[in-house]
Amino acid sequence: MGRKLTGKVVIATHNPGKLAEMRELLAPHGVTAISAGELNLPEPEETGKTFLENARIKAAAAAEATQLPALADDSGLTVDALGGEPGIYSARWAGPDKDFARAMRVIDEKLKLAGANDPSKRRGAFVAALSVVWPDGFAESVEGRVEGTLVWPPRGTKGFGYDPMFLPDGHERTFGEMSSEEKHGLPPRGKGLSHRARAFLKLSEIVLV
Ligand code: IMP
Repeated sequence: MGRKLTGKVVIATHNPGKLAEMRELLAPHGVTAISAGELNLPEPEETGKTFLENARIKAAAAAEATQLPALADDSGLTVDALGGEPGIYSARWAGPDKDFARAMRVIDEKLKLAGANDPSKRRGAFVAALSVVWPDGFAESVEGRVEGTLVWPPRGTKGFGYDPMFLPDGHERTFGEMSSEEKHGLPPRGKGLSHRARAFLKLSEIVLV
């Protein structure tokens, strides 16, 4: 049996939305979460080249600073016809004012420039990496992904980021048109559709009791 997460864990995020979501997911497993933000820990530079590397960098920094097990995530949108962009730079494409309407327009324009007009050429995926690192350096990391098509114009006002232009395979509504329960809900209530839900289900099989 591998190592299990019990007791107190640091969530390596300064984002209150992510903290709330992780807290909710961990609570039924008897794990109490405090955040790097609440502890005023510095945010490490995300120097990795992949979602997994960046999640691990964030978790390792928080574990070292607190001497507690730490959980971190990193996520984004990868578009096949754009060589995987924006990928780990998904947040950055929205600029300092977090303008995702513009970031989505940039993706659509780049796809059109690449001649990707047919849905079959507008394939992409949301990817989420989750990493748990213990103070002795032991780590468990997983990745969840959901494949889909980048539609234009964007549809729906729910969710955040690139949700309104992402149509997950097998569905007729974009993430921007789905309730958060439908997008992120875990079994038995939801289907575990989103990249983050899929990553969390994988991680929970490994480290939660
Ligand atoms: P980070 O994981 O905080 O580094 O940021 C990931 C970025 O990817 C976010 O700012 C969003 O732009 C994008 N992203 C990640 N997950 C989602 C999602 O579920 N919906 C829409 N955009 C997402």
